Amino acid sequence: MAAPLPTVFLSHGSPMLALDAGAAGQFWQKLGRELPRPDAVLAVSAHWTTADPAVSATVANATIHDFYGFPQPLYQISYPAPGAPALAKRVTDLLGAAEIPVGVDSARGLDHGAWVPLKNMYPLANLPVAQLSVQPQRDASWHVALGRALAPLRRENVLVLATGGAVHNLREMARDGGPTPAWARNFDDWLERTLLAGDEAAFVDWTRQAPEAQRAQPTPEHFLPIFVAYGAAGAKPKAETLFKGFTLGSMSMAAYRFDA
Ligand code: ZN
Repeated sequence: MAAPLPTVFLSHGSPMLALDAGAAGQFWQKLGRELPRPDAVLAVSAHWTTADPAVSATVANATIHDFYGFPQPLYQISYPAPGAPALAKRVTDLLGAAEIPVGVDSARGLDHGAWVPLKNMYPLANLPVAQLSVQPQRDASWHVALGRALAPLRRENVLVLATGGAVHNLREMARDGGPTPAWARNFDDWLERTLLAGDEAAFVDWTRQAPEAQRAQPTPEHFLPIFVAYGAAGAKPKAETLFKGFTLGSMSMAAYRFDA
């Protein structure tokens, strides 16, 4: 039997990375080539937020252009990955067994948190993809538990691909680039240190323990996916840094993989 897949957290950055992905995009492309090929992908995106978890169960994924005021070519891009209704059913069963409420959305396609990285990782758009939402009014521990209920998927050759932002403050972006401020680097480095040390207690207590937590994540939705990826690796996951870097000044592009 093949080894279980790792789970992955990627910072997806600006939608503009779909046009010019830069260093992070080259890393995504390499990651797609180097990971064992999954049978399907469960994308956990910061851009789908619901009160209770929801999973998408389409036959064909529409491409959602859920951003405003960007150059027209960005709105022409499509990523027509097949849907993954069988995976969606498996997700509802696993969450049901863990007594976690879950809804099924049979219409929703892929938001840019999912399709921008996926287009770089798997440009042929031939892997079935389902999406899972995050719950911004719930805390980190909730999202670790949500992930943990899905840990069997690693052994079923499903890639749990969580995407958000390791440092994500749209008000503090430098649109023309510029140096990375110390507060952003401090949070990003704390995250890496905490993950590599396996300090789960500090990780889930990030709102109190991370330096500059409020400034790095003024709203939590871009940070919550990392907890799902972490939980979905199984008990006591081992983290590995896949990528570090910043774009637009303070926006972290950090990526991690988790194995247990
Ligand atoms: Zn985003």
